[in-house]
Amino acid sequence: MKNAYDPDTFREWGHRLIDELADHLEQSHRGDPVPAIRWRPPQEELKYWEADRESGLASDPMSLFREVLAYSVNLHHPQYAGHQISPPLPVSALAGLVGDLLNNGMGVYEMGAAATAIERVVAREVAGKLGFGPASDGVLTSGGSLANLTALLAARSVKGDGVWKEGQREPLALLVSEEAHYCVDRAVRIMGWGAAGIIKVPVDEQFRMRTEELSTCLERAKKAGRRVIAVVGSACSTSTGAFDDLEAIAAFCQEHGLWFHVDGAHGAPVAFSRKYAHLVRGIEKADSVAMDFHKMLMTPSVTTALLFRDGDDSYRTFQQQGQYLWNRDEEAEWHNLAKRTFECTKLMLSLKVYSILRIYGWELFDQYVTTVIDNGRLFARLIRQHPSLELAVSPQCNIVCFRYVRPGMDSAETDGYNEGIRQKMLEDGSFYIVKTRLHGQTWLRSTLTNPFTEERHLKRLLEQVVTMGKILQREQAAIKEKQTD
Ligand SMILES: *Cc1c(COP(=O)(O)O)cnc(C)c1O
Repeated sequence: MKNAYDPDTFREWGHRLIDELADHLEQSHRGDPVPAIRWRPPQEELKYWEADRESGLASDPMSLFREVLAYSVNLHHPQYAGHQISPPLPVSALAGLVGDLLNNGMGVYEMGAAATAIERVVAREVAGKLGFGPASDGVLTSGGSLANLTALLAARSVKGDGVWKEGQREPLALLVSEEAHYCVDRAVRIMGWGAAGIIKVPVDEQFRMRTEELSTCLERAKKAGRRVIAVVGSACSTSTGAFDDLEAIAAFCQEHGLWFHVDGAHGAPVAFSRKYAHLVRGIEKADSVAMDFHKMLMTPSVTTALLFRDGDDSYRTFQQQGQYLWNRDEEAEWHNLAKRTFECTKLMLSLKVYSILRIYGWELFDQYVTTVIDNGRLFARLIRQHPSLELAVSPQCNIVCFRYVRPGMDSAETDGYNEGIRQKMLEDGSFYIVKTRLHGQTWLRSTLTNPFTEERHLKRLLEQVVTMGKILQREQAAIKEKQTD
């Protein structure tokens, strides 16, 4: 036991690990010799680790760490353009290490005094940057899914009278675009509203909520005996990065006395970019906003802010009335965070964000967000210019959907080709992109999340997509020939 906690061993392994990670980072930035991803199928990967487990005890963890580095997707690689997570800043990863070693539980003030006070500073500063006033407040929580659920619980507490104490007395519902992240649907069902509790507002050709349909949806819900208590705006949607018109949703909510929640898990950080802040105009009118730091703010996963325009509402998530209200002389208990979060014990999340702000300031967030969105738009231009590629929709941010097309190919064939291209690219590993379904069809999807991805990488990516398409075509021609033989 004493050996396992030995500070000198920690020092030695720690130094070696940091050296290893720094080398890895350097090679990743260079894109050489490490690939974006080194793919092994799940069964093979499992076999490897089962065999590893059988191989007895190791004298130090270095080969273990090295193997994990080799077979993990590499976000710091400029040819990583897949899911939405951003390559974390080294300083933020170091903050994570500090938090892991200290393991302050954060539930009550004493179990993390520094990180608790830092969380308040971070939450209020972020709220201010989103345009909220001095009454605003918030907490950090473990991921956008949990933040959305927490916000909707607060909405239910505020708008659905007595539900916390007496249970649900009437069928409730919310309105959200049909492009919303699945976690909103989950939250509704977790709250016991059932499938009818989520009313999907149709989207336009840009995948944005048709806000002119809100009234009709509301009327229809009323007729069906549902009381709508909230509208959720997507800023932005996950599949295509579409930003709903938050001004219009805010006006609708105000007119009908509804809670306005913004799922800004991916896109709320555009508020910190001078160039792109207009995409979330109206966000300051929301009652609550969920925003991930791990998607567009260079922070390790999962680090999410849940912000309330009226800070008092943050105390109402898990009780009908904030208990502090019974003693009005006392300030709200901001310092006992678990009263407002789903988590009892949680990571020292605030340190990961604060370390970035303390060293680099808001300017770096502006630079990052602006760079990756500029990249999204550049990528779209390159796709448009290519005769064998089709762009799904003009991207509003760093999420870009496109596909390989050939003249005379029907939609099933096009799907097959794009599925095949994506699989071949995964196995090749020099680029990492993903796929999605839009209008019932398969599209390639990339999120340009690495700020060092340049035009030459994007051009090469598209070349590889087209090359893989041609290889597939040859393979299929060969199969057909065999069949006719
Ligand atoms: C990623 C995402 C979520 C889920 O957030 P997690 O942090 O992965 O839990 C929710 N909504 C949107 C719009 C997202 O893009």
